[in-house]
Amino acid sequence: MYLFQNQFMPKEQVPISPEDRGYYFGDGIYEVFRVYNGVIFEPDGHYRRLEKSAKDTRIALPSSISELNGNLEELIRLNELTEGIVYMQITRGAAPRSHPFPKQAEPVLMAYCSPMARPLSTIEHGIRAITMDDIRWLRCDLKTLNLLPNVMAKQHALDQGADEVILHRSGTVTECSASNFMIVKEGVLHTHPANHLILHGITRDVVLKLARELSIPVQEQPFTVENVQQADEAFLTSTTQEVTPIIQVDGQTIGTGAPGAITVKLQQAFAQLIPAASPS
Ligand code: PLP
Repeated sequence: MYLFQNQFMPKEQVPISPEDRGYYFGDGIYEVFRVYNGVIFEPDGHYRRLEKSAKDTRIALPSSISELNGNLEELIRLNELTEGIVYMQITRGAAPRSHPFPKQAEPVLMAYCSPMARPLSTIEHGIRAITMDDIRWLRCDLKTLNLLPNVMAKQHALDQGADEVILHRSGTVTECSASNFMIVKEGVLHTHPANHLILHGITRDVVLKLARELSIPVQEQPFTVENVQQADEAFLTSTTQEVTPIIQVDGQTIGTGAPGAITVKLQQAFAQLIPAASPS
C-alpha cells in the first residue's frame, strides 16, 4: 500500500499528475526513514530536517508532523514492514509547466515502504571509492528531489569499477553521493562541518554523538583529498548504509585495507542502538 496525501491505496491507484512539479522541475523535498523491527529509527531528526527543507523551499507541509508520523506508522503496519525503509516525498503540486510558484497547486505527498536488510556484508568488508568534483548547487543541506548530480556521480563510480564517490570542491572533501563521509587520523575523527555544502545526515549526527560518548575526539572542519589519502581510516554514514568502511580511494589502500579500529568501535556502538527483534 502507498500513502497519497492522507489516504492509503494500492500503487496502481496513486493519482500522480503528469503536471506534478516534481516531475517537471524536481520541485519537491523528500525523506528516507529507516525502520528496524517495525519502528522508525530517529524520527525526530528526520522530521526536523523535513521541516527545514519545507521552510527553505517554501513548500507547505500538507499535514502536521504528528499527523504525518501517524500516517507513516499506519503505512508500516499495513505493509507489515519489519526491516526496511519508508520513502516519502512532497512536491509543490501539479500545475501547467511554468517556473513561478503556481497560485492554485496543493502540495502532493506520496510515501511507500520497501523491505531492506541491513547491509551486513559491506559493513564488515568495506567498499572502494573514487574522488570526483562536487558540481552540485550551494544548498546541499536541503533534501530536495534534484538529485541528477548525485545520480551522475554514483553511476560514474560504478562505471569506473568503484562502489562510491567522495565528492570535493577544489580539493575540499564534502560528502558522498548519498551519504556523509568521515576519516580518522591519529585517533581523531574528521568530517565536513554541517553547513550548506552537505546534507546534515541523521546518521552523521548519531555517529558524532556516539564518538563523543566514546571519548573519540571529533573535528568538524574541512579537509582535503590529500588528507583522505593519508588517513588511517575512512567511512561513510547514511540511513541505509549505516557505518560503511571505505578501504580504498582512487585505487590506493586506506590504512591496512581493512575496516579500522575506530570505525569498528563506532559500528558496534551504532548496532547497540538498533532495537532488537522481540522474541516471537
Ligand atoms: N548526504 C547525502 C547527499 C544523502 O543523500 C544522504 C542520504 O540520503 C546522506 C548524506 C545521509 O543522510 P542520512 O544519514 O540522514 O541518511
